[in-house]
Amino acid sequence: NKQVVLRDYVNGFPREDNMEVRRKEMKLGVPQGSNAVVVKNLYLSCDPYMRLLMTPNLLNRLLPSYTPDSPITGSGVAKIVDSGNPEFKVGDIVYGTTGWEEYSLITNPQGLFKIQHTDVPLSYYTGILGMPGLTAYAGFYEVCSPKKGEYVFVSAASGAVGQLVGQFAKLMGCYVVGSAGSKEKVDLLKSKFGFDDAFNYKEECDLNAALKRYFPQGIDIYFENVGGKTLDAVLLNMRVRGRIAVCGMISQYNLDPPDGITNLMQIVYGRVRIEGFSVSDYVDQYSKFLDFMLPHIREGKIVYVEDIAEGLESGPFALVGLFSGCNVGKQVVLVARE
Ligand code: NDP
Repeated sequence: NKQVVLRDYVNGFPREDNMEVRRKEMKLGVPQGSNAVVVKNLYLSCDPYMRLLMTPNLLNRLLPSYTPDSPITGSGVAKIVDSGNPEFKVGDIVYGTTGWEEYSLITNPQGLFKIQHTDVPLSYYTGILGMPGLTAYAGFYEVCSPKKGEYVFVSAASGAVGQLVGQFAKLMGCYVVGSAGSKEKVDLLKSKFGFDDAFNYKEECDLNAALKRYFPQGIDIYFENVGGKTLDAVLLNMRVRGRIAVCGMISQYNLDPPDGITNLMQIVYGRVRIEGFSVSDYVDQYSKFLDFMLPHIREGKIVYVEDIAEGLESGPFALVGLFSGCNVGKQVVLVARE
């Protein structure tokens, strides 16, 4: 069984060699009398929070850190190859937390979700129909309290979450601008995802001036994915009673101490509501979310761009690449085809 193992805890930016692909003998059966399952992993999801699990105690309030010398875990799509659990039979395709390895023994399969709709690409369950999709859906519709005609700004806008937030904002009748780190991504935002406008934040030496150019009237909703300098500049451009949904702050995950924010008083002047959220609080909305998404996908009203790295060996490179923006769209690792 090939596995991606964390060599040791990580300080600063993660590197490919913080992980190692190893082989370990594994019996492909469920232990007698247990209600575990054995899965063959098909698609693994690369998510920014996985970096936080590579340092002890960072994400403690939500998830335990990884253990050095053990395979890392994340969400993925997998096929049941042995089952001691009446809920799952051999051949079922499931989505949920699994190991970064070819085969995983899942001793606690309650968290696995059986995939019923297979007319869409299975990899979608790591992105648009999985955790990032639900994050965009709950974050935008619940946390942002959007209204038609409002001015919306999204950072890391071409990524797994951001590309959906922009499309939801357009469905709601908002004006939406996204920022991303390359010309290719900016073009995608405008031509594929229907953002009204977009810019490359790496080409703007003064982010405050850039935001003033794109939002002369100010921002009602900021969907925060990056933090740091972007957040600081956004604070200077929020409209009165604006909302900031703090989904994540990827620019801070490798910094200790984090970048300073200097414009916090703007929260008072603008009576701005800033609210952090975690997708884990919205899992009960998953079936409502699927009912909303599937017709939109089938009718082509919501589109999704994925970046699929082939083979488990490419996993460490793909995961680390999130922190330099190598991914164009949702980063997935293809471990095996069905
Ligand atoms: P993406 O697919 O957007 O990948 C990460 C992207 O972040 C990169 O492609 C890069 O794009 C951008 N980025 C990386 N480093 C920096 C930096 N220093 N400054 C600015 N941008 C940077 O990731 P996701 O869509 O999966 O995640 C987006 C955010 O949402 C993250 O902060 C993540 O932690 C958070 N999240 C939160 C959840 C929750 O429950 N609250 C659940 C899921 C995700 P570019 O080239 O544009 O710079």
